[in-house]
Amino acid sequence: MPKKIKPIALVYRSNTKNISTLARILKEGGLVAVPTETVYGLAANALNAKACRAIFKAKGRPENDPLIVHIHSLKDLHQIAEKNSAVDLLAHAFWPGPLTLVLPKKNCIPSIVTSNLPSVAVRIPSHPVFRKLLKKTGLPLAAPSANPFGYVSPTTSAHVVESLGSKINHILEGGACEVGVESTILDLRNPKLPVLLRPGGISKNKIEKVLKLKVLSGNKIRHPNLKSGQISPGLLKKHYSPHTPLTLSDHLKVRSAINSSKNEAWLFIKKPNGVIAKNIFFLSRSGNLTEAAHNLFSVLRDLDSGNWKQIHAEKAIGSDIAVAINDRLIRAASKRNH
Ligand code: AMP
Ligand code: MG
Repeated sequence: MPKKIKPIALVYRSNTKNISTLARILKEGGLVAVPTETVYGLAANALNAKACRAIFKAKGRPENDPLIVHIHSLKDLHQIAEKNSAVDLLAHAFWPGPLTLVLPKKNCIPSIVTSNLPSVAVRIPSHPVFRKLLKKTGLPLAAPSANPFGYVSPTTSAHVVESLGSKINHILEGGACEVGVESTILDLRNPKLPVLLRPGGISKNKIEKVLKLKVLSGNKIRHPNLKSGQISPGLLKKHYSPHTPLTLSDHLKVRSAINSSKNEAWLFIKKPNGVIAKNIFFLSRSGNLTEAAHNLFSVLRDLDSGNWKQIHAEKAIGSDIAVAINDRLIRAASKRNH
Protein backbone atom coordinates (compact mmCIF):
# COMPACT_ATOMS: atom_id res chain seq x y z
CA MET A 1 0.00 0.00 0.00
CA PRO A 2 1.43 3.46 -0.86
CA LYS A 3 1.95 5.59 2.26
CA LYS A 4 -0.65 8.38 2.55
CA ILE A 5 1.10 11.75 2.75
CA LYS A 6 -0.41 14.19 5.22
CA PRO A 7 -1.51 17.51 3.72
CA ILE A 8 0.26 20.59 5.10
CA ALA A 9 -1.66 23.15 3.06
CA LEU A 10 -3.99 25.63 4.74
CA VAL A 11 -7.12 26.75 2.87
CA TYR A 12 -7.72 30.49 3.45
CA ARG A 13 -11.18 32.02 3.19
CA SER A 14 -11.19 35.01 0.86
CA ASN A 15 -11.47 37.88 3.36
CA THR A 16 -9.43 41.09 3.38
CA LYS A 17 -7.11 39.93 6.15
CA ASN A 18 -6.27 36.64 4.43
CA ILE A 19 -5.76 38.33 1.08
CA SER A 20 -3.26 40.71 2.74
CA THR A 21 -1.46 37.77 4.37
CA LEU A 22 -1.25 35.85 1.09
CA ALA A 23 -0.13 38.97 -0.83
CA ARG A 24 2.73 39.33 1.69
CA ILE A 25 3.67 35.66 1.25
CA LEU A 26 3.79 36.14 -2.54
CA LYS A 27 5.89 39.32 -2.22
CA GLU A 28 8.32 37.39 0.00
CA GLY A 29 8.76 34.73 -2.69
CA GLY A 30 6.24 32.13 -1.48
CA LEU A 31 3.74 30.06 -3.46
CA VAL A 32 -0.05 30.39 -3.16
CA ALA A 33 -2.69 28.30 -4.95
CA VAL A 34 -5.33 30.65 -6.32
CA PRO A 35 -8.82 30.37 -7.80
CA THR A 36 -9.26 31.57 -11.37
CA GLU A 37 -12.29 31.38 -13.66
CA THR A 38 -10.55 28.60 -15.66
CA VAL A 39 -8.87 26.24 -13.15
CA TYR A 40 -7.01 26.71 -9.81
CA GLY A 41 -3.48 28.02 -10.37
CA LEU A 42 -0.24 27.80 -8.39
CA ALA A 43 0.99 31.39 -8.21
CA ALA A 44 4.35 33.04 -7.57
CA ASN A 45 5.84 36.49 -8.20
CA ALA A 46 6.63 36.38 -11.94
CA LEU A 47 9.59 38.74 -11.42
CA ASN A 48 11.26 36.38 -8.93
CA ALA A 49 13.12 33.53 -10.65
CA LYS A 50 13.63 31.55 -7.44
CA ALA A 51 9.92 31.68 -6.57
CA CYS A 52 8.99 30.60 -10.11
CA ARG A 53 11.49 27.74 -10.01
CA ALA A 54 9.64 26.50 -6.91
CA ILE A 55 6.42 26.24 -8.98
CA PHE A 56 8.11 23.79 -11.37
CA LYS A 57 9.43 21.78 -8.42
CA ALA A 58 6.07 21.56 -6.60
CA LYS A 59 4.28 20.45 -9.78
CA GLY A 60 7.04 18.21 -11.12
CA ARG A 61 6.75 20.30 -14.29
CA PRO A 62 9.65 20.21 -16.76
CA GLU A 63 11.40 23.57 -17.07
CA ASN A 64 10.88 23.62 -20.84
CA ASP A 65 7.13 24.17 -20.30
CA PRO A 66 6.69 27.97 -19.90
CA LEU A 67 4.28 29.62 -17.45
CA ILE A 68 1.38 32.01 -18.04
CA VAL A 69 1.75 35.39 -16.31
CA HIS A 70 -1.36 37.02 -14.83
CA ILE A 71 -1.75 40.77 -14.46
CA HIS A 72 -4.51 42.88 -12.91
CA SER A 73 -5.05 45.51 -15.63
CA LEU A 74 -4.12 46.41 -19.16
CA LYS A 75 -2.00 49.28 -17.84
CA ASP A 76 0.30 46.65 -16.24
CA LEU A 77 1.01 44.97 -19.59
CA HIS A 78 3.78 47.29 -20.85
CA GLN A 79 5.98 46.32 -17.87
CA ILE A 80 6.25 42.72 -19.02
CA ALA A 81 5.41 42.52 -22.75
CA GLU A 82 5.43 44.47 -26.04
CA LYS A 83 1.95 45.55 -27.06
CA ASN A 84 0.72 45.63 -30.65
CA SER A 85 -2.35 46.82 -32.52
CA ALA A 86 -4.29 43.57 -32.07
CA VAL A 87 -3.83 43.45 -28.29
CA ASP A 88 -6.15 46.39 -27.59
CA LEU A 89 -8.93 44.91 -29.74
CA LEU A 90 -8.77 41.54 -27.98
CA ALA A 91 -8.30 43.07 -24.53
CA HIS A 92 -11.35 45.22 -25.05
CA ALA A 93 -13.44 42.22 -26.15
CA PHE A 94 -12.22 39.46 -23.80
CA TRP A 95 -10.24 40.76 -20.80
CA PRO A 96 -10.66 40.15 -17.97
CA GLY A 97 -11.31 36.58 -19.11
CA PRO A 98 -9.99 33.20 -20.28
CA LEU A 99 -7.73 34.39 -23.13
CA THR A 100 -3.92 34.21 -22.97
CA LEU A 101 -1.81 36.17 -25.45
CA VAL A 102 1.77 35.27 -26.37
CA LEU A 103 3.74 38.49 -26.95
CA PRO A 104 7.40 39.55 -27.13
CA LYS A 105 8.67 39.73 -23.55
CA LYS A 106 10.40 42.51 -21.63
CA ASN A 107 13.67 41.89 -19.78
CA CYS A 108 12.20 41.93 -16.26
CA ILE A 109 10.59 38.51 -16.86
CA PRO A 110 13.15 35.87 -15.86
CA SER A 111 13.99 33.19 -18.40
CA ILE A 112 12.72 30.40 -16.12
CA VAL A 113 9.16 31.77 -16.59
CA THR A 114 9.32 31.58 -20.39
CA SER A 115 11.62 28.54 -20.72
CA ASN A 116 14.19 30.81 -22.37
CA LEU A 117 11.76 31.95 -25.08
CA PRO A 118 11.87 35.63 -26.09
CA SER A 119 8.06 35.71 -25.66
CA VAL A 120 5.76 35.68 -22.65
CA ALA A 121 2.19 34.37 -22.26
CA VAL A 122 -0.06 36.93 -20.50
CA ARG A 123 -3.62 36.97 -19.23
CA ILE A 124 -5.92 39.24 -17.21
CA PRO A 125 -8.15 36.88 -15.20
CA SER A 126 -11.74 37.71 -14.23
CA HIS A 127 -12.11 35.75 -10.98
CA PRO A 128 -12.93 38.43 -8.36
CA VAL A 129 -10.91 36.77 -5.57
CA PHE A 130 -7.79 36.35 -7.70
CA ARG A 131 -8.19 39.94 -8.92
CA LYS A 132 -8.19 41.20 -5.32
CA LEU A 133 -4.97 39.29 -4.66
CA LEU A 134 -3.33 40.58 -7.86
CA LYS A 135 -4.27 44.13 -6.92
CA LYS A 136 -2.99 43.73 -3.37
CA THR A 137 0.40 42.32 -4.48
CA GLY A 138 0.80 44.87 -7.29
CA LEU A 139 2.86 42.18 -9.05
CA PRO A 140 2.52 40.06 -12.17
CA LEU A 141 1.87 36.49 -10.97
CA ALA A 142 3.02 33.41 -12.87
CA ALA A 143 0.50 30.60 -12.36
CA PRO A 144 0.14 27.24 -14.10
CA SER A 145 -2.59 24.86 -12.97
CA ALA A 146 -2.22 23.77 -9.33
CA ASN A 147 -1.82 20.03 -9.95
CA PRO A 148 0.99 17.55 -10.44
CA PHE A 149 2.26 17.85 -14.02
CA GLY A 150 0.17 15.89 -16.53
CA TYR A 151 -2.71 15.09 -14.18
CA VAL A 152 -6.31 16.35 -14.40
CA SER A 153 -6.48 20.10 -13.58
CA PRO A 154 -8.09 21.24 -10.29
CA THR A 155 -11.38 23.15 -10.34
CA THR A 156 -11.98 23.32 -6.56
CA SER A 157 -9.73 24.00 -3.55
CA ALA A 158 -10.41 20.39 -2.43
CA HIS A 159 -8.83 19.15 -5.68
CA VAL A 160 -5.72 21.23 -4.88
CA VAL A 161 -5.51 19.81 -1.35
CA GLU A 162 -5.96 16.31 -2.75
CA SER A 163 -3.13 16.48 -5.26
CA LEU A 164 -0.68 19.18 -4.09
CA GLY A 165 -1.63 19.49 -0.41
CA SER A 166 1.59 17.87 0.79
CA LYS A 167 3.80 20.08 -1.41
CA ILE A 168 2.46 23.59 -0.80
CA ASN A 169 1.39 25.60 2.25
CA HIS A 170 -1.24 28.09 1.12
CA ILE A 171 -4.49 27.79 -0.86
CA LEU A 172 -6.92 30.67 -1.38
CA GLU A 173 -10.58 29.57 -1.49
CA GLY A 174 -12.65 30.88 -4.38
CA GLY A 175 -15.35 28.27 -4.97
CA ALA A 176 -15.68 26.05 -8.05
CA CYS A 177 -14.08 27.51 -11.20
CA GLU A 178 -16.75 28.82 -13.55
CA VAL A 179 -15.28 27.91 -16.96
CA GLY A 180 -13.61 24.69 -15.83
CA VAL A 181 -11.07 24.34 -18.69
CA GLU A 182 -7.86 26.29 -19.24
CA SER A 183 -7.61 29.57 -21.14
CA THR A 184 -7.43 29.86 -24.90
CA ILE A 185 -3.80 30.57 -25.89
CA LEU A 186 -3.21 32.81 -28.91
CA ASP A 187 0.21 33.57 -30.35
CA LEU A 188 -0.01 37.28 -31.17
CA ARG A 189 3.66 38.07 -31.70
CA ASN A 190 2.74 38.96 -35.24
CA PRO A 191 -0.62 40.81 -35.05
CA LYS A 192 -1.28 40.05 -38.72
CA LEU A 193 -0.78 36.30 -38.20
CA PRO A 194 -2.53 35.20 -35.03
CA VAL A 195 -2.11 31.50 -34.23
CA LEU A 196 -4.33 29.50 -31.88
CA LEU A 197 -2.03 27.37 -29.70
CA ARG A 198 -4.64 25.93 -27.32
CA PRO A 199 -8.45 26.03 -27.55
CA GLY A 200 -10.19 27.19 -24.37
CA GLY A 201 -12.93 29.37 -22.94
CA ILE A 202 -12.81 31.91 -25.84
CA SER A 203 -13.43 30.33 -29.24
CA LYS A 204 -11.44 30.84 -32.43
CA ASN A 205 -14.61 32.13 -34.13
CA LYS A 206 -15.03 34.89 -31.58
CA ILE A 207 -11.37 35.92 -31.92
CA GLU A 208 -11.63 36.00 -35.72
CA LYS A 209 -14.72 38.22 -35.53
CA VAL A 210 -12.93 40.73 -33.32
CA LEU A 211 -9.67 40.77 -35.30
CA LYS A 212 -11.40 40.51 -38.69
CA LEU A 213 -8.60 38.09 -39.56
CA LYS A 214 -8.27 34.35 -40.09
CA VAL A 215 -6.68 32.66 -37.08
CA LEU A 216 -4.35 29.76 -37.91
CA SER A 217 -4.60 26.69 -35.73
CA GLY A 218 -2.06 24.38 -34.23
CA ASN A 219 1.08 24.09 -32.29
CA LYS A 220 3.17 22.96 -35.26
CA ILE A 221 1.99 24.98 -38.19
CA ARG A 222 3.43 25.54 -41.62
CA HIS A 223 2.95 28.95 -43.11
CA PRO A 224 5.17 30.81 -45.57
CA ASN A 225 5.33 33.86 -43.28
CA LEU A 226 6.08 32.01 -40.07
CA LYS A 227 9.35 30.43 -39.03
CA SER A 228 9.19 26.72 -38.27
CA GLY A 229 10.35 27.57 -34.74
CA GLN A 230 6.93 28.98 -33.93
CA ILE A 231 5.95 26.14 -31.70
CA SER A 232 4.53 26.36 -28.21
CA PRO A 233 6.41 23.96 -25.94
CA GLY A 234 4.52 22.12 -23.26
CA LEU A 235 1.38 21.45 -25.27
CA LEU A 236 1.80 17.71 -25.04
CA LYS A 237 -0.25 15.00 -26.71
CA LYS A 238 -0.83 13.38 -23.33
CA HIS A 239 -2.08 15.69 -20.59
CA TYR A 240 -5.03 16.22 -18.25
CA SER A 241 -4.89 12.47 -17.76
CA PRO A 242 -6.58 10.38 -15.10
CA HIS A 243 -4.61 7.34 -13.86
CA THR A 244 -7.48 5.10 -15.04
CA PRO A 245 -7.15 4.31 -18.77
CA LEU A 246 -9.57 6.44 -20.81
CA THR A 247 -10.78 5.71 -24.34
CA LEU A 248 -12.58 8.29 -26.42
CA SER A 249 -15.28 7.72 -29.07
CA ASP A 250 -17.31 10.03 -31.27
CA HIS A 251 -20.47 8.67 -29.74
CA LEU A 252 -21.21 6.24 -26.88
CA LYS A 253 -24.12 3.80 -27.01
CA VAL A 254 -26.19 3.25 -23.85
CA ARG A 255 -26.58 -0.39 -24.83
CA SER A 256 -22.78 -0.87 -24.77
CA ALA A 257 -22.65 0.62 -21.29
CA ILE A 258 -25.42 -1.62 -19.97
CA ASN A 259 -23.88 -4.75 -21.52
CA SER A 260 -20.33 -3.95 -20.40
CA SER A 261 -18.47 -5.32 -17.44
CA LYS A 262 -19.51 -3.53 -14.26
CA ASN A 263 -16.05 -2.14 -13.61
CA GLU A 264 -16.11 0.00 -16.75
CA ALA A 265 -17.40 3.58 -16.42
CA TRP A 266 -19.21 5.32 -19.30
CA LEU A 267 -19.05 9.09 -19.50
CA PHE A 268 -21.69 10.74 -21.69
CA ILE A 269 -21.83 14.44 -22.51
CA LYS A 270 -25.63 14.52 -22.01
CA LYS A 271 -27.60 12.35 -19.59
CA PRO A 272 -28.99 9.41 -21.58
CA ASN A 273 -32.81 9.37 -21.51
CA GLY A 274 -34.46 7.25 -18.84
CA VAL A 275 -31.44 5.05 -18.10
CA ILE A 276 -30.23 4.37 -14.59
CA ALA A 277 -27.07 2.29 -14.21
CA LYS A 278 -24.28 2.63 -11.68
CA ASN A 279 -21.60 2.78 -14.38
CA ILE A 280 -23.23 5.59 -16.40
CA PHE A 281 -22.10 9.20 -15.83
CA PHE A 282 -22.70 12.46 -17.68
CA LEU A 283 -21.28 16.00 -17.84
CA SER A 284 -24.56 17.87 -18.20
CA ARG A 285 -28.14 16.74 -17.60
CA SER A 286 -29.42 18.79 -20.55
CA GLY A 287 -26.34 18.49 -22.77
CA ASN A 288 -25.36 22.13 -22.21
CA LEU A 289 -21.71 22.32 -23.28
CA THR A 290 -20.77 25.26 -21.03
CA GLU A 291 -21.98 23.16 -18.10
CA ALA A 292 -20.16 20.12 -19.49
CA ALA A 293 -16.85 22.04 -19.59
CA HIS A 294 -17.45 23.31 -16.05
CA ASN A 295 -17.94 19.72 -14.80
CA LEU A 296 -15.35 17.93 -16.95
CA PHE A 297 -12.28 17.84 -14.67
CA SER A 298 -14.32 17.34 -11.52
CA VAL A 299 -16.11 14.30 -12.98
CA LEU A 300 -12.82 12.88 -14.33
CA ARG A 301 -11.29 13.17 -10.84
CA ASP A 302 -14.33 11.50 -9.26
CA LEU A 303 -14.15 8.65 -11.75
CA ASP A 304 -10.42 8.32 -11.16
CA SER A 305 -10.95 7.86 -7.43
CA GLY A 306 -13.56 5.12 -8.03
CA ASN A 307 -12.44 1.56 -8.65
CA TRP A 308 -13.03 1.66 -12.41
CA LYS A 309 -10.74 -0.37 -14.66
CA GLN A 310 -11.59 1.66 -17.73
CA ILE A 311 -13.32 4.95 -18.55
CA HIS A 312 -15.15 5.24 -21.89
CA ALA A 313 -15.83 8.86 -22.82
CA GLU A 314 -17.48 10.51 -25.79
CA LYS A 315 -16.64 13.68 -27.68
CA ALA A 316 -18.73 16.84 -27.53
CA ILE A 317 -20.42 17.83 -30.78
CA GLY A 318 -20.23 21.47 -31.87
CA SER A 319 -17.89 24.41 -32.17
CA ASP A 320 -16.66 26.90 -29.55
CA ILE A 321 -16.40 25.29 -26.10
CA ALA A 322 -16.90 21.79 -27.62
CA VAL A 323 -13.47 22.20 -29.25
CA ALA A 324 -11.88 22.90 -25.84
CA ILE A 325 -13.67 19.92 -24.22
CA ASN A 326 -12.53 17.58 -27.02
CA ASP A 327 -8.96 18.91 -26.87
CA ARG A 328 -8.79 17.93 -23.15
CA LEU A 329 -10.47 14.54 -23.74
CA ILE A 330 -8.15 13.68 -26.65
CA ARG A 331 -5.10 14.44 -24.48
CA ALA A 332 -6.58 12.55 -21.51
CA ALA A 333 -7.01 9.52 -23.79
CA SER A 334 -3.58 9.78 -25.45
CA LYS A 335 -0.96 7.16 -24.73
CA ARG A 336 1.80 9.14 -26.42
CA ASN A 337 3.61 12.06 -24.83
CA HIS A 338 4.65 13.84 -28.01
P1 AMP B 1 -0.64 25.88 -18.43
O1 AMP B 1 -0.27 24.43 -18.38
O2 AMP B 1 -2.09 26.13 -18.40
O3 AMP B 1 0.16 26.68 -17.50
O4 AMP B 1 -0.26 26.36 -19.90
C1 AMP B 1 0.83 27.04 -20.22
C2 AMP B 1 1.10 26.75 -21.66
O5 AMP B 1 1.19 27.99 -22.35
C3 AMP B 1 2.46 26.09 -21.88
O6 AMP B 1 2.35 24.70 -21.80
C4 AMP B 1 2.85 26.58 -23.26
O7 AMP B 1 2.41 25.66 -24.22
C5 AMP B 1 2.09 27.90 -23.41
N1 AMP B 1 3.03 29.01 -23.29
C6 AMP B 1 3.39 29.66 -22.18
N2 AMP B 1 4.29 30.60 -22.44
C7 AMP B 1 4.50 30.55 -23.77
C8 AMP B 1 5.33 31.28 -24.66
N3 AMP B 1 6.13 32.25 -24.24
N4 AMP B 1 5.30 30.96 -25.97
C9 AMP B 1 4.49 30.00 -26.42
N5 AMP B 1 3.69 29.27 -25.62
C10 AMP B 1 3.69 29.54 -24.32
MG1 MG C 1 -1.77 22.70 -16.59
